[in-house]
Amino acid sequence: MQKNIHSSLHLIITNCISCQTEYQNYSTVKEDKKINTCANCNPAYKGKVTAEIKIERAEKFSQRQQKEQEKVEEKKFRQQKAQQRRSK
Ligand SMILES: [Zn+2]
Repeated sequence: MQKNIHSSLHLIITNCISCQTEYQNYSTVKEDKKINTCANCNPAYKGKVTAEIKIERAEKFSQRQQKEQEKVEEKKFRQQKAQQRRSK
């Protein structure tokens, strides 16, 4: 291994601004980091929240489909009644 060509690693502290959590990371830059969101506070990284959102979306979609089907059935029913009146 050659000497003096590898960058040295420093132990830094990464601080999340929104939830005040501190993480220890290794970095080639000596300065500590500040981040806006982390895995602890961002809801996208928590499995429960995303699963709930997906379920809500699926429920909304099925409700919309039911409404559309009801509309189509009503139209068919009205058309049948109109045809019966014409035939009489
Ligand atoms: Zn955070």
